[in-house]
Amino acid sequence: MIRIAQPEIGEEEIAAVNAVMQSGILAQGSRVAQLEEDFAKYCGTKYALAINSGTAAIHAALHAAGIHEGDEVITVPFSFIATINPILMTGATPVLVDIDPGTFCMDVTKLEAAITSKTKAIIPVHLYGQTANQDEINEIAKRHNLIVVEDACQAVAAEYKGRKAGNLGDLGCFSLYATKNIMSGEGGMVTTNNEAYANAIRRFRQHGMSAPYMYDELGYNYRLTDLQAAIAIEQLKKVDRFTSARQANAALLRDGLKGIKGLIVPEVAADRNHVYHQYTIRITKDFPISRDEFVEALHAKDIGAGVYYPLALHTYPHIAKLDYKLGDFPEAEKAAAEVVSLPVHPAVTAEDVKTIVSAIKELVHA
Ligand SMILES: *Cc1c(COP(=O)(O)O)cnc(C)c1O
Repeated sequence: MIRIAQPEIGEEEIAAVNAVMQSGILAQGSRVAQLEEDFAKYCGTKYALAINSGTAAIHAALHAAGIHEGDEVITVPFSFIATINPILMTGATPVLVDIDPGTFCMDVTKLEAAITSKTKAIIPVHLYGQTANQDEINEIAKRHNLIVVEDACQAVAAEYKGRKAGNLGDLGCFSLYATKNIMSGEGGMVTTNNEAYANAIRRFRQHGMSAPYMYDELGYNYRLTDLQAAIAIEQLKKVDRFTSARQANAALLRDGLKGIKGLIVPEVAADRNHVYHQYTIRITKDFPISRDEFVEALHAKDIGAGVYYPLALHTYPHIAKLDYKLGDFPEAEKAAAEVVSLPVHPAVTAEDVKTIVSAIKELVHA
């Protein structure tokens, strides 16, 4: 089986976890502090705060941004559910802007029309590892006094005009979940250049605590452990190698798959460094078989193709009840019907890519 995701765990990660075990200090401690220093340096931000998931990262970032009930937060209808749920956790209302069909990121030409007097923040999603149109988003945000929270959960190491994801808005949110480009099993990071935001996140992840047993406000237990931080520190040292391997596989997939009728290879916009968390193609109605048949056929050939994501977010019951219906975001709905992600991670070999490409070509000629 050529898996759709496979974390690379080396001797370094194992030794680092062992060292934490031997130290006897397992919860948030010196490894978390080290990870925060390394991650901020990597992204080019003043601060990075470790947290126990990407979902918690977005929740904490929205809290730091002062989002609460009555506010509106703009995001996209085509992403993982954890982009939108944290908006609901704060009590605010998500407002959706359709995606650009080429990049799968927010269609910035539709952004301004979604802004109301209640809008407080925008969450662009750097989907599949390619950053959104950040200059346009930042410019609109500035004009309307809005806070920009990047959902960079799929985009560690991605760049926009030479700047790293996580350093493109007011706050950046990352996931260290096992399938992400770097991982610690579960985990997350928030990046920012704003000291007040950094302090708010430090409190929020620890019960709203500002000093021992001083609880200033409602908070959570969102701490990362030193065991996880030890893994992430080693993964971060390898991130550039992981990224190059993904990009090399993406280039081979592109060469092998371009020019097939009804199959659209991913588009990379100008000034982006796409890190291919997913290599996502579209199977349109011009392809000989349907998208779902395509996925099944690849599975039958031991190729772990995946659909990210099969439904647009506004069609899930708890979002739909906010007064959304099918047809509201045609590009998101179309993407959900057409996308297929192919294995692209560092453990995929050039030989594996050949296997994937010839399996797909057989489907064309079957
Ligand atoms: C993974 C992911 C999240 C959530 O991260 P978790 O660590 O799983 O909580 C949020 N948004 C996007 C786009 C993701 O891919």
